[in-house]
This record gives sequence, C-alpha cells and structure tokens, in this order.
Amino acid sequence: MTAPTDEFDTKAADPDAEPPLVRLRDVRKYFDSSQGLFGSVSLSFEGGRPSLDLSSDPVRAVDGVSFDVFPGETLGLVGESGCGKSTLAKTVVRLLEPSGGSIIFDGTDLTDLSGESLRRKRRDIQMVFQDPQSSLDPRMTIGEIVAEPMRVNGMYDAETRRERVEELLGKVGLDASQYNRYPHEFSGGQRQRVNLARALSVDPKFVVCDEPVSGLDVSVQAKVLSIMEDLQAEFGLTYLFISHDLSVIRYISDRVAVMYLGRIVELGDTEQVFTDPKHPYTRGLIDGIPIPDPDAARGRRNLRGEVPSPADPPKGCHFHPRCPAFIPPDDIDLDTEIWQDVLEYVRTIDRREFASDDADAALAAAFPEGVPAGHVGDRLVAATDAAGADEWEDAAATLHEAFIEPSVCLQAVETHRLSDPEDTRQVACHRYDPQSETDE
Ligand code: SF4
Repeated sequence: MTAPTDEFDTKAADPDAEPPLVRLRDVRKYFDSSQGLFGSVSLSFEGGRPSLDLSSDPVRAVDGVSFDVFPGETLGLVGESGCGKSTLAKTVVRLLEPSGGSIIFDGTDLTDLSGESLRRKRRDIQMVFQDPQSSLDPRMTIGEIVAEPMRVNGMYDAETRRERVEELLGKVGLDASQYNRYPHEFSGGQRQRVNLARALSVDPKFVVCDEPVSGLDVSVQAKVLSIMEDLQAEFGLTYLFISHDLSVIRYISDRVAVMYLGRIVELGDTEQVFTDPKHPYTRGLIDGIPIPDPDAARGRRNLRGEVPSPADPPKGCHFHPRCPAFIPPDDIDLDTEIWQDVLEYVRTIDRREFASDDADAALAAAFPEGVPAGHVGDRLVAATDAAGADEWEDAAATLHEAFIEPSVCLQAVETHRLSDPEDTRQVACHRYDPQSETDE
C-alpha cells in the first residue's frame, strides 16, 4: 500500500462536511513473532543437539490502516475473524502501542501523548467489549461499576455520581433500583447495557465498540443496537463499530470499512457497499450471508479457504490466494471460464486435494472440455505429472511460476478512489486501478 495522503477518505465532495473527529493515517501494529502465540518455531540439530529457531519476522496484525470517522457517524468495520479488527480497535484507543502511523483524535495525535495527557484525552474515547461478563468486575455492584470511570477521573461528588448512574441506568433500559445488584444477577444483554452506561458515564465523544452484540440472542441484539442508536442521537456520539456479522454492520453503520489481513480493502457508504460491492473479498463476504431464496442464492461465490497468518502474509494483494477474480498474467489469453478452471486447478494442487494416484483423473475432471492447448496445457500437464509422482512442491511451483507470480495481483495494491469524483468509495484492488487496463 502506498503512503496515504491527506486526501484519503475525506468527504471532500461535501463542502459542508465537518472535519473528521478521528483520522487514522498509516496505522500499524506489529508483534514480535518470536515472543507471541504466532512465533514460528522450527527445530535445528546443529552440534547434534536440537535447538529452537525463532523467526524474527513481525506479525503484521494491522498494516497501514487509514480512514476518517466523522462526528456523529457510525463507521462499521467488518471482516472475518483474524483479520485484525480487534487489534486495530485496541490500537486506536491506545490499549496497544501502535508500531507506526498517526491517530489524530479531535485535532491531537494520540501517538504523541503519554502519561497524564493521554489519560485525560482517553476520557473522550471509550471502548465497549464483546464479552460483557468478563469486562464487569463480579465483586462490584453495577452502580459502582458505572460510577467507577467518573470516580477515577475525579468527576463530580459521590452524591452527583450516584444520581448520574441512576439516570444512565434508565437511559440504557435498566432500572435505578438495580444499583446494588451484582453482574451475575443480569442476563448477557443487560450486562452489555451496564457496559454502555459505564462507557457513557464520562461523556465520551467517541466510542469504539468491539463486537458488542456478538454472543447475544438475535432479539436481544436488536434491543441493544436500538439503545445504542438512541444514545448516539441523544449524546451526539461517534461510533467505530466492529463486527464480523454483516447484517449487524448493515443495520447500524453509515459507512463501512472492510478489513482483510491487516488492511482496509474497501470503504464506502453502507448501502453502496452492500448493494454493489466492488472488492472481491467484500463480494465473497456478502455472498456468504444466508438467504432463504435458493434461486437468488444461485451464482453466489462463497469465500473459500482461511485468512492466512499475518506472520507470513501473501505477497502483493493479501487476498490473492483466495480471490476468484485473480487477474491472469499478460501472456495468458484464455476465456474467463477456462481461466477460472486453471485458477481452481492451481488451488487444488496447492491444497493437495487429491491423491497422487488420481492426478490424471483430477486434471481431466478440472477441464471437462479438454485441457487447454499450448503453453498453458503444457504447464498443467507438467504439474499433474509432478503431483502424480508425489512431488507436490514441484507441481505447485510449476503452476505458480506460470500463472500466479507474473500477475499484477502480486504487486503492491494502492487504494483507489472509484472514478466518479463525488464517489467516496475506495477499493484496494488492481481491477479498480485507474491506470490499469484490467478494470471491470
Ligand atoms: S488485486 Fe487481484 S487478487 Fe487482489 S482482490 Fe483484486 S483481483 Fe483479486
């Protein structure tokens, strides 16, 4: 990804737009892979004794994220588990130290702050976590829990704090009479309301919500989301709302940022993104939303494969090993359907999806109309022969050298604003590169 500019994600088309409340620029969070769960470990036997070899490549959990969040809006952040959403949330609120970039909040770069100045600023930024049970101290009453941030920040006297807690409990749909009850006496949905009341107790401007309704029943989710909308309207809150659930994101968000393996791959107004997704990853996520009509479901292409490890992200476009729209190299001139079959065969070999004894049959099944002629066919047959000889790495290398490595998709991807200057959509895909001839 190229270095972001100040033009990134501004609502420049609207001259009346307020400046962003939050402005992220090239935010990165790397972990030392030799220390964490992601450490890649291998054994060597130098000197006759086994020793651990720890890789020092960093885990790029968040890898150059830039976007704005405007006052009063809800920006939804969506992606599969493991794509870096929660790490980004914790980095934005400085629960994790960023490895680079800037986090401008209300005109101040949070990455420049520490100690007391950071603590004071943090009062304006609150976080609501996914698990309302573990984020509430079981030894405190809910009244004490909601009052705690005010007490820590030296806000109000004890009597005023109590009045304010009772008022906030009412705002989130609980009752002031429940002040002295303990978290275990409440349901999951009620505990999440306590979390909301606690977050609001210090009058924040910005609330980062990390999967706040995951794990709740659908009917309870709807109630909590509705309360969050009411609170946003009443207190003028700005939300960064994180979820892997696209239905929730569509319901609550004004705009959506789609994250994949540490990067934002698409950003735009919610309805635009949901009705006309541009990035192949966004399309795959949306195609995966269950729908009851089998006719409408036909033709959808659900995502295959897993999110790769951020300790060893794919070269170029991180999504390329799963992308159904992968762009063929310039010297490959095939019909789209045949190219799709070639691509699928490459991935079948990568995943070793058949036994070596069945290699010829697998090739025939992959190309029912016959293996393409010429250079393409030669490579497919050579790879099949290697797979038949149980030389899978050679088979994969033969195919990758011809069909994957030379593709533009293995080059770094910029985030492109779509062609209409009034369009705030941004897509990180070579198919949308204005300089490229491969635009769809
Ligand atoms: S850059 Fe290539 S691999 Fe990545 S999403 Fe676009 S078409 Fe797919």
